[in-house]
Amino acid sequence: MDFELSEEHKMLREAVRDFAQKEIAPLVEEAEAKEEMPPGLFPKLGKLGYICVGYPSEYGGGGMGMLGQCILIEEFCRVCVGIGSSVMTQGGIATHALLHHGTEAQKQKYLIPAIRGEVIGAYGLTEPNAGSDAAQIETTAVKQGDKYIINGNKIYITNTPICNYILVAAYTNKSAGVRGISVILVDRDTPGLTIKKMNKFCIRSSPTGEVTLDNCVVPAENLIGEEGKGFSYLMETLDSGRIVHAASSLSVAEAAYQAALDYGQQRVQFGHPIGTFQANSFKLARMAMEIEAARWLMYRAAWLYDQGERRFVESAMTKLYASEVAQRVTAEAMQIHGGVALMFESPVNRYFRDSRRSTITEGTSEIQLMVIARAIGIK
Ligand SMILES: Cc1cc2nc3c(=O)[nH]c(=O)nc-3n(C[C@H](O)[C@H](O)[C@H](O)COP(=O)(O)OP(=O)(O)OC[C@H]3O[C@@H](n4cnc5c(N)ncnc54)[C@H](O)[C@@H]3O)c2cc1C
Repeated sequence: MDFELSEEHKMLREAVRDFAQKEIAPLVEEAEAKEEMPPGLFPKLGKLGYICVGYPSEYGGGGMGMLGQCILIEEFCRVCVGIGSSVMTQGGIATHALLHHGTEAQKQKYLIPAIRGEVIGAYGLTEPNAGSDAAQIETTAVKQGDKYIINGNKIYITNTPICNYILVAAYTNKSAGVRGISVILVDRDTPGLTIKKMNKFCIRSSPTGEVTLDNCVVPAENLIGEEGKGFSYLMETLDSGRIVHAASSLSVAEAAYQAALDYGQQRVQFGHPIGTFQANSFKLARMAMEIEAARWLMYRAAWLYDQGERRFVESAMTKLYASEVAQRVTAEAMQIHGGVALMFESPVNRYFRDSRRSTITEGTSEIQLMVIARAIGIK
């Protein structure tokens, strides 16, 4: 057993932390207020190789594996979960199927520019009537000659208000059940594609949209991989995505814990720093312990993934645990801050709001529990 990060990963963490503090932190307040990913940030990140550090270097990635991607997202999300979530989508669900199943031409046209931050991608699975039960999607892609005609609606899709393309999950053969779902790339300027921005109370700087596909005509060559394999590509994407999602939950817990620890030392009541009262010091001690446990569960899942062991259950466990730790820690950090926590200008207020999404996106907690229950033999 070796619990040390490699020198390469340590250097990555230091460099990304420094960048996030200097270049991202000053943008957060305005980005959150305007509900936008700071304009120009994606290309800047791409130039530095800070979008897909885990992807192979032959396509412009950093070649630093899942562990590298987790470190990147942890550092970005510690400063801003909204901005970090947009990067997480770009370096995850919006590009994963392209990397693993795209043709060379698709990689040249979309994947490499996405890794560089020159084009922005999105992944559209969720629909108004199909969330956790993804098999219920109603979007269809009907093949006519060398084209697909796509019709349907997608909801809560990250990055769509600023995207250049969407990987759309659609039925190409409804009678085959989930084996009839395919993934097809739809360009933003395709006639019939409309995107409406949605407003959120959390991760506000990560733009979210509702998508309508009304008789969108797409070249058949935009199919990703094989027809009918879309659901299995999704499962592969979630396998890695849930580990990175845990990194984002962990980081917001760390930020809230640090804020509570600092505040507990500064704020004096009854003649003593409030953090020294046992009620608060026990809260802080529990936060520290839970963060530590979440961190090692996540690093182990990332390490396993980098060894080629794609175990769905480890991804589900780390995603679920880190997201629940994030919610407990941010709630306790609010309590330690007292009244100031309820003011919008307080960072703990943002941490608390941002942690609320962690048990919902990338599969809800109940879905993770279903995965774990199945893995331990409950049918
Ligand atoms: C900010 C944000 C960004 C997102 N980004 C994307 C994106 O980029 N691409 C994309 O495709 N989707 C995206 N989503 C969608 C997200 O993945 C879904 O919201 C999520 O999967 C849950 O689906 P739902 O909201 O329809 O909830 P539902 O599935 O309707 O679930 C509602 C509640 O019922 C519970 N539930 C459902 N089924 C069961 C069951 N069998 N047993 C027990 N409990 C159950 C759920 O756990 C949940 O608590 C995003 C969502 C948000 C909020």
